[in-house]
Amino acid sequence: MHDDAPYGRSGSSGFTTKKCPECYTYLPLHTNKCPSCNTKLGDVNKLGFATRPFDWAGYIIAILSIVGFVVFVWWGFFRD
Ligand SMILES: [Zn+2]
Repeated sequence: MHDDAPYGRSGSSGFTTKKCPECYTYLPLHTNKCPSCNTKLGDVNKLGFATRPFDWAGYIIAILSIVGFVVFVWWGFFRD
């Protein structure tokens, strides 16, 4: 046994709960979704808040909507 860290403090943060960044509810560290506001949650940060995991679906939808808008503008104004 080389690990002599106090039991229960194996994480770097030392937190035992994390806070939802949306509704400020205290949640267990292993929770990956807030039960009150359905926000997806990642690991706890150094302030005790849960981080938001990278949202690929939202990112892709944002890109597609931008591309769609550009194509729409091109189609409407620059097509000839
Ligand atoms: Zn929440």
